[in-house]
Amino acid sequence: MSSQTPYPKSVETLKQVLGEGNYKSIERYLHRYDGTATSVKPVARYITIYWIGRAADRMILRTEGEDDIILSEVGGEAVPTIIFRKLKAVYLREFMGLMREQWSQYSESIKRIYGVNYDFLAGCSIAVGIAGEERGVLHGRCMKCPVDVLMGATSGEASYNLVSRFVGDATYALTSSFERRTGNSVDEVTHTTIMLTGKESEEARRTGGLFSETFVEPGTLFVGKIVLPMISPPELLHVLWLLTRAERVGARTSIQGTLEIYPVAMIGDLFEVGTAYRVAEKYHSKKSVDEVRKGIEDYLNSEVKFATSSNIVLFTENIVNNLKRVNILDANLVMELWTNAKNYVDGVLKYIQAK
Ligand SMILES: [Zn+2]
Repeated sequence: MSSQTPYPKSVETLKQVLGEGNYKSIERYLHRYDGTATSVKPVARYITIYWIGRAADRMILRTEGEDDIILSEVGGEAVPTIIFRKLKAVYLREFMGLMREQWSQYSESIKRIYGVNYDFLAGCSIAVGIAGEERGVLHGRCMKCPVDVLMGATSGEASYNLVSRFVGDATYALTSSFERRTGNSVDEVTHTTIMLTGKESEEARRTGGLFSETFVEPGTLFVGKIVLPMISPPELLHVLWLLTRAERVGARTSIQGTLEIYPVAMIGDLFEVGTAYRVAEKYHSKKSVDEVRKGIEDYLNSEVKFATSSNIVLFTENIVNNLKRVNILDANLVMELWTNAKNYVDGVLKYIQAK
């Protein structure tokens, strides 16, 4: 980031929330989008976040088709594993909900940022609401709003794709306490059972057929990792806010039951740091959140610290409480996030023209 602060309110808020020292240790791995082609060229700046999940009740991880929920071998045992796409879908919905709120409160100001072409929002999922939950995220995408810009989107009508900058590892359970059941359901609409040929789209397979359910015992712990490449301060603030806000995910779609989310540690580096799999392997069979929290800290310090030039930021109770207190509908924070998205798209358009 340049010496002049392009996102004053977001930077100030991050400093207040994390503390000056913590902010300093991630600052150089944050990115700035100023609307130029250069600003969207890939550079090595990554923020990696580790988190612990805890099944608050008897969770059912259900899947139609293959590979949504997989069992991974960790520590010589098969453990339930949630692919990253499932977790991302949860935060995509939460982020869209928040953007709808910001839009309805500040639409006049946001229209001024985007100029005459503001109508695009009518075509985006964030404007039409979450129709049918599971399908909502697949509705039309405007390719310009903060959700699309951060989480990625494609559209037949746009001349560009937006690469997701919200990525991560699969989430692994630390214990193998589960039961698995495979069934054969009848589709209510067509009364047919679908055979899995592997050729249909996921949506087609979803309409019925073979399914399997994995039941996870209450108290089961999971370890996950989120990676944020080239993230700007307003985007990071919003992601952190969502992580502490959406503490309990699930009770819908493919995760039934409740997964509590505890962010544990964040680190900035030229690469993403460590793997959730390695943590799951090291702390296999652990059942205490505090023990695993300490384990993640030890892992980052002992195994990956020498690969990084920055310090680990631990999500203390204090930081989590600070995050919960952030007014994410603050006018300046909102404007910085939407201006950032506009600049990102301007940069992409210039970049593809320049090529
Ligand atoms: Zn959009």
